[in-house]
Amino acid sequence: MASAELMRLHKLHEIDRAILQIRKRAAAMEEGVKLQSLAEKAKAVFAEANAKYHEKHGEQRDLELTNQQIADKLLSIEKQLFSGKVTNPKEIEALEHQKSGLIANQATNEERILAFWDEVPPLKATAEEAKKQAEAAIRKFTDWKTMAATQKTELEMRFKELSSQRPALAKTIGPALIGRYDAIRAKSQVGMADVTHDKTCEECGSTIPEMVMVQLIDDKVVICEGCSRILYYTGGVI
Ligand SMILES: [Zn+2]
Repeated sequence: MASAELMRLHKLHEIDRAILQIRKRAAAMEEGVKLQSLAEKAKAVFAEANAKYHEKHGEQRDLELTNQQIADKLLSIEKQLFSGKVTNPKEIEALEHQKSGLIANQATNEERILAFWDEVPPLKATAEEAKKQAEAAIRKFTDWKTMAATQKTELEMRFKELSSQRPALAKTIGPALIGRYDAIRAKSQVGMADVTHDKTCEECGSTIPEMVMVQLIDDKVVICEGCSRILYYTGGVI
């Protein structure tokens, strides 16, 4: 059994540990800022990839339309040439000239269209993947916002409750012991460590030597050799 004062200190330690947990959880809420920035970045990446895809795809469609118009124009020239209505050799020559120019343009465009067939699908795939990534990042941030709103209120209430219990309890512990405890806490956050049933330190896992166990059973204030925290042993009562 631990002494009554050590038991009170242990109670204080439990409050402090709970407060520490709350602080850590509150700090984890900063995570939201990171998630928001990740979502913004993912959105920007998608916007860029999507713009690239639409630009190329637009160019491809424009060229396809142009070639369709050229094909229509060629058809109408053919009709004119074979209609027998155009007899003037100069006019025929002009039409033939126009026709060969259009055919040349059509071939150039066709080559570019073929190149687009290679270029556009990967751009589309990249944009689709970026969209998925952005949606996932946005979802993560949105989920976090929902969670944070409820958790924040809960944490604040618990923090207030624990903080109000602390001063009265601290007053019941002698200045020497609490001074020591606070000094350890200032250094390593947690001031006290339970000795587990298999005689190890709960905080750092060190095995507690038999000699120390004897001192603990004798109600002495002993610190862990591994982590320098005040050890707490209930002799298997808890
Ligand atoms: Zn330890």
